[in-house]
Amino acid sequence: MRSLPVQVWRELQLAVMPLSEESSLKDVLVVILSWLRGNYKWFTVEPFSIYGFDEFLHVNEDIMPVDYSSFLPSDIGHFKKVVLKYQAKEAESIARFLRDTMEALITIEIDKQCPRCESDGMRVFIGRHNGLLACQCNVCGNSHYIDGSKVEVGGLEFASEVILRGAGLI
Ligand SMILES: [Zn+2]
Repeated sequence: MRSLPVQVWRELQLAVMPLSEESSLKDVLVVILSWLRGNYKWFTVEPFSIYGFDEFLHVNEDIMPVDYSSFLPSDIGHFKKVVLKYQAKEAESIARFLRDTMEALITIEIDKQCPRCESDGMRVFIGRHNGLLACQCNVCGNSHYIDGSKVEVGGLEFASEVILRGAGLI
């Protein structure tokens, strides 16, 4: 499956129309998550499964640090423009773009340099099994726990606002 049904994609395009720079970032997140949940069967297969959409389907928008996101209200216009531009058959591009958008909305970025590619700014996640905070590079995807240990494949999940606040990061 490399294409979304036209009517499914059209549904998201209609849902983003009322968004503007006055909308809250949570509004943007809720628009995307409601659409995902309403059409979930399309997101459990490729290309969406490759981009971790099954995890997005389980995100609880009420506990994520959306207000501290690196996604800004001024990015909403660009977000709308891209959604309106893509066609249903461009599922690969849609998957990548929505993954990047959702990740930006529900993670925070900290002022830290990637030890591998030296890009500035890393996103904070939490270890699924050990509860340790971890940093992931936006550019090369390199990730490590704050104690320096290596992150296992699939080992990270999204960190809630309460956890980030407890760690003094927001
Ligand atoms: Zn990097």
